[in-house]
Amino acid sequence: MRVVVTGGAGFIASHLCEALLRRGDGVVALDNLATSTGENLLFLQQWPQFQFRRHDVRQPIAVEGATDYVLHFASPASPEFFQRRPIETLETGALGTTNALELARTTGASFLVASTSEVYGDPQEHPQREEYHGNVDPIGPRSSYDEAKRFAEALTMAYRREYGTDTHIVRIFNTYGPRMTPQDGRVISNFVTQALRGGPLTVYGDGSQTRSFCYVGDMVAGVLKAMAASFPEPINLGNPEEWRIIDVAKLVVELTGSRSPIVKGELPQGDPKVRRPDISRARTLLGWEPQVPLREGLARTIAYFRSVTAPST
Ligand code: UDP
Repeated sequence: MRVVVTGGAGFIASHLCEALLRRGDGVVALDNLATSTGENLLFLQQWPQFQFRRHDVRQPIAVEGATDYVLHFASPASPEFFQRRPIETLETGALGTTNALELARTTGASFLVASTSEVYGDPQEHPQREEYHGNVDPIGPRSSYDEAKRFAEALTMAYRREYGTDTHIVRIFNTYGPRMTPQDGRVISNFVTQALRGGPLTVYGDGSQTRSFCYVGDMVAGVLKAMAASFPEPINLGNPEEWRIIDVAKLVVELTGSRSPIVKGELPQGDPKVRRPDISRARTLLGWEPQVPLREGLARTIAYFRSVTAPST
């Protein structure tokens, strides 16, 4: 297959490119490098069937040659990045998804959009099933991302209904692992970076809010299975192992062997209180479930952060 991956230099998508290349697919990665460096690409360039184009998906996408599949991952994705770039985030969800779907429509390719657990907002149903329609504040500080992704899902379904495009939607829950951007502001990147420096770990609020963290290798395996499935509705992909943020902080301190203190900061407005995927659909339809527990995945992530932050002398 020849696969076009938007946002291919990003965290999850670069792992996805690697998995596709390893199984022999050709990959054309598009990225404007707005929230990632080109670092992840250096590794991918060892495969002769890998191509990179610096491209902003808000502009129409033209890829010469056959395209069999379009994986649409381009978007600022961490709260820090999407709140700093709200208009760009909304435009990427609207114009970028239109352009990625147009590429699929005009080439007859299949299409998969990387949606998010953020479509559930601050959920009042727990754990979150795909049938739950969510609790999103349309004007809150997270709305640029949440509404962009909700629009992206709606547009994807519209292309299926109106043009018969072969579409797929995955809702990605919190994912972590090697090649995360240390400055993305996410809780795992922050805690690991802080612990390795010996500085305080910043828990926002009282730390009783929960998240469920999926190791990136598990996530990529789920996306590959979702690509191959014939199922038009959204599929939750995430690890149902739910953690309080305060306990994640303690675990990071333990695994790094750090002496860092844990300090409390202000809880950001609109921060969801709980999040945990119901993955029954993925289990049944894809035969998929995560294999890597947080303790093990964090150890690998810490090793990666150590390697990239190691002093050069
Ligand atoms: N968080 C925290 N300290 C940090 C960064 C994040 O306590 O340094 C909290 C944040 O308030 C949220 C959770 O960790 O409750 C997950 O935040 P993240 O930005 O990783 O992603 P989110 O799930 O909110 O999109």
